[in-house]
Amino acid sequence: MKPDKGWAAVSDFDGTITLRDVGDHLLLHYGFADERTIEESYSLKVRVEDFMKRAFSGAELTEEMIAGFVREKVRARPGFRDFILFCEAAGVPFEIASGGVDLYADPFFEKHGVKVRSFFGRARVVKGGIRITYPFLKRMDLSSFKASRVALKREAGYRVVFFGDGPNDLKAAGLADKVYAAGRLLRLCRERGIAASPLVNFARAAEFIKKNG
Ligand SMILES: [Mg+2]
Repeated sequence: MKPDKGWAAVSDFDGTITLRDVGDHLLLHYGFADERTIEESYSLKVRVEDFMKRAFSGAELTEEMIAGFVREKVRARPGFRDFILFCEAAGVPFEIASGGVDLYADPFFEKHGVKVRSFFGRARVVKGGIRITYPFLKRMDLSSFKASRVALKREAGYRVVFFGDGPNDLKAAGLADKVYAAGRLLRLCRERGIAASPLVNFARAAEFIKKNG
């Protein structure tokens, strides 16, 4: 039998830790994408990483604009910071696997005063737009990568709680021991018979871990 190391947590970032998808919000706010393009990017057939690369390639934004946007407009889901502190104190490994990018994630974590193990795309301001790469994906797609992070923790003997909101979180949700889902992911889990609790705030997850430790 595998050892039971207790709980580990794996989370999506955009729309999960933040209340709105930061990438979409940025593109819409500065007029680099319209609602329809954004909506289409949520098809199960679209790879988020391909959408991000394409959508940002013509987005003439500076690092300062993005950091300022994060400070002023991006809100964390209630209980996020406390949940990170809870995980640190309780020895619950927490990590983020995201199709989002460092240029908005870094100022977000700075704003909230937390350091979290994470996988984000690398965004660099280039002439005419932003170039995004995903060094951690190698040959895997993002959806499989998220699932692989859950699988790795389980193989290491953890029970895994997964947080997500998008179609590209579905594979990971299917492998987790406990799922908190918002938005499209919650609907997809319901359709496919994957047990999931609605993700409202992070306090409930801390309660769950305490109760089921
Ligand atoms: Mg998301």
